[in-house]
Amino acid sequence: MTDALLAVENLDVRYGPSQALFDVSLAVAPGSVTAVLGANGAGKSTLARTVSGLVPAAAGRVIFDGVTVSGQSTHHIRKLGLTYIPEGRGIFPGLSVIDNLRMAVAQEKRGDRADAIDRAIALFPVLGQRRTQRAGSLSGGEQQMLALARALAVPPRLIIADEMSLGLAPIVAESVFRSLEEAARSGITIVLIEQFVHRALALADSCVILMRGRVGWSGPADEAGQEVLDRYLGEADQGANTAVG
Ligand code: ATP
Repeated sequence: MTDALLAVENLDVRYGPSQALFDVSLAVAPGSVTAVLGANGAGKSTLARTVSGLVPAAAGRVIFDGVTVSGQSTHHIRKLGLTYIPEGRGIFPGLSVIDNLRMAVAQEKRGDRADAIDRAIALFPVLGQRRTQRAGSLSGGEQQMLALARALAVPPRLIIADEMSLGLAPIVAESVFRSLEEAARSGITIVLIEQFVHRALALADSCVILMRGRVGWSGPADEAGQEVLDRYLGEADQGANTAVG
């Protein structure tokens, strides 16, 4: 076995008769940032959902910190320290900001919960000003901050962030990236699924490019040059260039 914090081995995933992932393998080193890139429909979210236990593997396995977690519940996987922030934010829009944070720390010992909430708000002070506001009425950027605050209130070992910058203005996306950068600096391992290809690569140590459900390319992020991106991302890369500006 490698010393990877997360290892995916020969993963196949099916939705009914259609197969979304084919023989996908990757290894994520502890403390690293891995960018998972790919065109729409390439299988990025499916990979994230399978690793976090939301979708079953048809073949292959997922190993987190030396333990096989494929087949385990999301709750169990979360308790081991793997947090998934799904595309679309993973917050409770009908609840207030503070209740969203309370839910995120509900598994903690009673005496630790207030500290965990304070820590989360300290990361994004704007959330403190919006405590009683319904999460669904926050701006897109604030909702992403809330999603990250929920994920970081009880610091996980690994975060899978699925397209956190989706739909955000570039300047707001940048602040979300900075928060992820800080989380990485604090030692949290990050798997970053991103449409902003170049911004993701600037943050990442490693890169995995999915193509129609298979690993098309993987390697160090600084070796994912334009030629690689053009070859494996095609139009998705063009869009990302435009978005980054
Ligand atoms: P995007 O960037 O558009 O979110 P993605 O790379 O995350 O794309 P997935 O969402 O993982 O890709 O989709 C991979 C393939 O699986 C696609 O062909 C998609 O249509 C299919 N798929 C995803 N979710 C389901 C589902 N719940 N049921 C059936 N097919 C699905």
